[in-house]
Amino acid sequence: MSVKDTLFRWLNRVNPRVMRAAEQTLKAVPGVDARMEQEYASMLGELEHSLKPYAGEFDAYAELPKTGRDRELILDEMEQLNARERGKWQEGFVSGAVYHGDAAYIEFLNRVYALNSQSNPLHADVFPATSKFEAEIVSMTAHLLGADETNDIVGTVTSGGTESILLAMKTYRDFARDKKGIAAPEIIAPVSAHAAFDKAAQYFNLKLVHIPLDAAMRADVDAARRALNKNTIALIGSAPCFPYGTLDPIQELSELAYAHGIGFHTDACLGGFVLPFAEKLGYAVPPFDFRLRGVTSMSADTHKYGYAAKGTSVVLYRGRALRHYQYYTATDWSGGLYFSPTFAGSRPGALSATAWAALVSIGQAGYLEATRAILETATKIKNGIRELPELKILGDPLWVIAFASATLDIYKVMDALTQRGWSLNGLHKPAAVHLALTQRHTVPGVAERFLTDLRDAVAYVKAHPEDKGAMAPVYGLAANLPLRGVVSDLLKRYMDVLYKV
Ligand SMILES: *Cc1c(COP(=O)(O)O)cnc(C)c1O
Repeated sequence: MSVKDTLFRWLNRVNPRVMRAAEQTLKAVPGVDARMEQEYASMLGELEHSLKPYAGEFDAYAELPKTGRDRELILDEMEQLNARERGKWQEGFVSGAVYHGDAAYIEFLNRVYALNSQSNPLHADVFPATSKFEAEIVSMTAHLLGADETNDIVGTVTSGGTESILLAMKTYRDFARDKKGIAAPEIIAPVSAHAAFDKAAQYFNLKLVHIPLDAAMRADVDAARRALNKNTIALIGSAPCFPYGTLDPIQELSELAYAHGIGFHTDACLGGFVLPFAEKLGYAVPPFDFRLRGVTSMSADTHKYGYAAKGTSVVLYRGRALRHYQYYTATDWSGGLYFSPTFAGSRPGALSATAWAALVSIGQAGYLEATRAILETATKIKNGIRELPELKILGDPLWVIAFASATLDIYKVMDALTQRGWSLNGLHKPAAVHLALTQRHTVPGVAERFLTDLRDAVAYVKAHPEDKGAMAPVYGLAANLPLRGVVSDLLKRYMDVLYKV
């Protein structure tokens, strides 16, 4: 059972009376607070075993060792840890997570990293090669997504999709404050937009206005129109969204933004390196990129379907004037003139080098082929799911496939799949399960294994109504739970456990 499963199982065991009382009076009544802390401690105490599977088996260091350990022993230990963990993702049992994962390819990226491990783009004078890599990563990504001689699409390399999104939202906030005097900025995003937009709203004091989806799991354009007001600084759409893999109506939404003179961000973190090739392969891909005049920024993750090592993404803007609002400059610091394009100061130039090496080594033909394989595998899997009358695919996705059930508890189906080795994502509102296909799933036999296991899982759930499953009741609870504050507190303590030695 995965750590997340265990967490949710324990979540289900919190006394609901305690939870409700805590939610209502949380900080006001010291007794309840203390009781809650006890509940959290006992839940997480048991959870610690699955979160820290190596405890007792490998040396743990709460403090620096007196003298340094032998390098070979360190490498040997890491080999052992790696061997324990790699089978699951290598054999295609995991949704998303590792997007390429071929051993020889990983070895290539590792060599690129090793060659560049000392690079820090903060020191562009010392490491001009890294500036070259980053400029070219941005340009190659921009040209994939509709840049041409007329539209001045620029951007920066970031540490991941979340940073790309946070930066774009900060940029719109500062632009709107400077150019329009907007002091209480609002952004509008579909409920399916990534949590990073909510994170941006929290970090930068933006009001996030959520709009619902239509029956095809695409943003409701009329709702977006109604949500616009004089404080709106940007509208958001996903291509595709993480939960359902569906594309929002980017053309309509971006025209709405254009007409209102506000920003429009296409979140192509997931689709940036897939959709352009899907289009070339003849799949129905509605326009989503800078070819639409209303699209003013985009995010595209090199560390997902760009097949780079983890830790890079690209944020793009229409026009360098907008990009200037992302940049940071300090002119009065005693440390001298200081400037940085993204949140970090020092940055891992080696990761930019691996992203560049990924793009250049794979090339258009390689991405086309990877996309072809993933989309063909997806068609096979979607057809297999459609043969099961108990299941229903949500919307009309290309390669991130969410399925629900009108007759079965879908979380029980997910439980049965977990029993068979799979690590899928449970979704809320509506209850569903998703599988994001990567190159790991295009390996011969993996799609067939998934469908066999899915059929078995459905049959098992039908035949065993008495089996409540490990996660199913919990997911049911977490999906319906009105006590979000308690869930949030629990998740914070869960993160505390992650940092326990
Ligand atoms: C993964 C993802 C993000 C966030 O990216 P991270 O690299 O995990 O920070 C944002 N939007 C979408 C659609 C994604 O799939």
